[in-house]
Amino acid sequence: MKKEAISDIKQLLRSPKKMVIVPHKNPDGDAIGSTLGLYHYLRIHNQEAVIIAPNDYPEFLKWMPGEDSILKYDTDSEKCDALIQDADIIFTLDFNALNRTGNMEPALKASAAMKIMIDHHQQPDDYATYMYSDVSMSSTCEMVYHFIAMLDDKNLINQDIATCLYTGIMTDTGSFRFASTTSETHRVTAFLMDKGAQHSEIHNAVMDANSFERMQLLGCALSNLKVIPESRTAFITLSQDELNTYNYKKGDTEGFVNYALSLQNIIFAAIFIEDKQNNIIKISLRSKGDFSVNEFARAHFEGGGHTNAAGGKSDLSLPETVEKFISILPAYNNALKNE
Ligand code: 5GP
Ligand code: MN
Repeated sequence: MKKEAISDIKQLLRSPKKMVIVPHKNPDGDAIGSTLGLYHYLRIHNQEAVIIAPNDYPEFLKWMPGEDSILKYDTDSEKCDALIQDADIIFTLDFNALNRTGNMEPALKASAAMKIMIDHHQQPDDYATYMYSDVSMSSTCEMVYHFIAMLDDKNLINQDIATCLYTGIMTDTGSFRFASTTSETHRVTAFLMDKGAQHSEIHNAVMDANSFERMQLLGCALSNLKVIPESRTAFITLSQDELNTYNYKKGDTEGFVNYALSLQNIIFAAIFIEDKQNNIIKISLRSKGDFSVNEFARAHFEGGGHTNAAGGKSDLSLPETVEKFISILPAYNNALKNE
């Protein structure tokens, strides 16, 4: 961020304001961790801050400090609309375009509030007054740490902030293993541990919270795993019937796509999940090396994200979506083979 932006924001924080903090739809660990981390920080500055998530998030995030104060737009829209309309400042975290908030988009667009973006996704839209966008960052949580540090407030980072930021860094880096993890990520993480983030308890709360049914669903997903060796690609499907059989709950399929990517010689992985309620196939894409799933998702599946992790959707049926995916792949064989 530019020096002038930092001093403007410092000035803004000097007096109490109405602030709304917004993560993307279907928030993940980084989205919830970063919004809560910022929330605790703004509260220390006596700001009237609230978090409004577009919709609900997985149970394995529902232990985080302050989590029970998060409002959900889809079930509380009247109250949320009033807060958005009255806000002086709206922070948008962990997304790059207002349409990533789903049904909240019109309210956010209509609000006269100043907008501040903190995000690490590629190709950010130009809607914010102050934009802190850095695609080289492991996570938005790492950026919230840097944001607080730029405001010369590192000394205000307490155990609640540290716990929330640690959680999002951990989930967005696949427990510190993805290419996006840098030595600086580890330095930030070390700082957060010094401030009281309990790494072992956090890993346990997020990772070891599996229900028996989720493990059975994973078994089903793995038995649906297919490999296309000539494209160094593997993919998984889950139909709505299969999800129903194992009593699917939000977040249950998180991380499944990584099993496809863990196969020997595979550098491109996808999971196609049928969503009968919204009449779409939700797609998650992952890659290793320089093959950009962000570009692939943008070109073919109305999505986006990062080079190695992106998502999108399809309005076709599940078999048609898979057929489309398989038919597109040969055009990428050279890029995939050369990785
Ligand atoms: P996931 O596959 O875990 O849902 O998402 C991986 C990454 O891609 C995340 O950074 C997420 O924000 C982004 N992403 C997922 N779905 C979409 C989508 O439909 N559109 C865009 N633009 N990004 C997405
Ligand atoms: Mn993120």
